[in-house]
Amino acid sequence: MPDWQIPLTDLDYGTDETEAVVRVLQSKWLSMGPEVETFEQEFSSQLKAGNSIAVSNGTAALHLALLALGIGPGDSVVQPAINFVASANMTVAVGAKPVFADITSLDEPMIDPEEIKKLINSDTRAIIVMHYGGYLCQMPAIQKICEDHRLFLIEDACHAVGAMYLGVFPSSVEGKYAGTIGSAGCFSFFSNKNLATGEGGMVTTGDVELAVRIRHFRSHGMTTLTWDRHRGHSSSYDVVQHGYNYRFDEIRAALGRVQLQKLLSNNQKRKIISEWYDQQLSGMKGWQIVKTRNNLDASHHLEVVISPDEATRNRAVQALREARIQSSLHYPCIPDFKAFLKEAACNVPRSREFSKRAITLPLFPTMSQTQVEQVCRILSHASKE
Ligand SMILES: *Cc1c(COP(=O)(O)O)cnc(C)c1O
Repeated sequence: MPDWQIPLTDLDYGTDETEAVVRVLQSKWLSMGPEVETFEQEFSSQLKAGNSIAVSNGTAALHLALLALGIGPGDSVVQPAINFVASANMTVAVGAKPVFADITSLDEPMIDPEEIKKLINSDTRAIIVMHYGGYLCQMPAIQKICEDHRLFLIEDACHAVGAMYLGVFPSSVEGKYAGTIGSAGCFSFFSNKNLATGEGGMVTTGDVELAVRIRHFRSHGMTTLTWDRHRGHSSSYDVVQHGYNYRFDEIRAALGRVQLQKLLSNNQKRKIISEWYDQQLSGMKGWQIVKTRNNLDASHHLEVVISPDEATRNRAVQALREARIQSSLHYPCIPDFKAFLKEAACNVPRSREFSKRAITLPLFPTMSQTQVEQVCRILSHASKE
């Protein structure tokens, strides 16, 4: 690994995480037990989600949401062209067709409700939204589209754990957390996410029957778990559908519980750091900062700037690298990936432009103001060259 002076992201782990892991090791019960059950309950109560189902990763969460909603061959799923590739891959995995919609604008790189409308036809069964960088999508407009066309709404909330709509009253989403608005919400606890357990994920849903189907799919379609049988709650099981093994384990659940306690305060720290970036970058001519028009309490997962043009982007990325500052691109435009080339004819000019000009800058809860200034100084220099 290169020795970054400022990494893109950093874990907030301490003795509480260590103690949680030791507690599980001493219990000698390693998968799907009391820690997972408690983590699910605590996640539900923190996010005011009806049901939470812990799974092995965020991609599994998306796969299970699509499967449990009955989406499959012949169906199409409208989703953003700017996203991590998991949603599109899982759409293909269930046999459905991803249909890519353009983003609203370069500084609001979330799926555009007006673009969704143009892409709906008789095959459309669902819409996937992704709350980019922890900034929320225009959910009231998208909910309306889903109601009008009787479509399922899946939230890829992997960036947005703990992000909430505030001050958009009167609205159907006021006071709600990302991932609890649509038919199902999908979260990832990968190492670089706001709530990190290494690998891990969660599906949330207000629909009890959907939750039951997701639980069955998570563990081979079986009606009971090894944990239930260990406790003597049941001695046998039936298999009610063809399922998978997407189970979560006790060590990660214990880590997740500690991370959940820190979540909102760490999101608040991210917000302050993001404001430092705003102050530093606001004077830079031709640059834009990804924010959102929607009033909300964001989770500030990513700090993303849009450079004036592609050449400036390349120069800035190179200069950051030379200063041992890590940067990234979230994300290349999905329909331009080789595996999705048959979808490439789609009309997503803003997404393509975004991929050429966006830069993700370091952002993590323990980042200092001096570090933010260092990053911005390099950007500002590269911009003038
Ligand atoms: C991380 C991420 C995923 C996938 O989660 P994994 O846990 O890595 O499988 C999906 N969508 C988005 C937007 C993500 O950021």
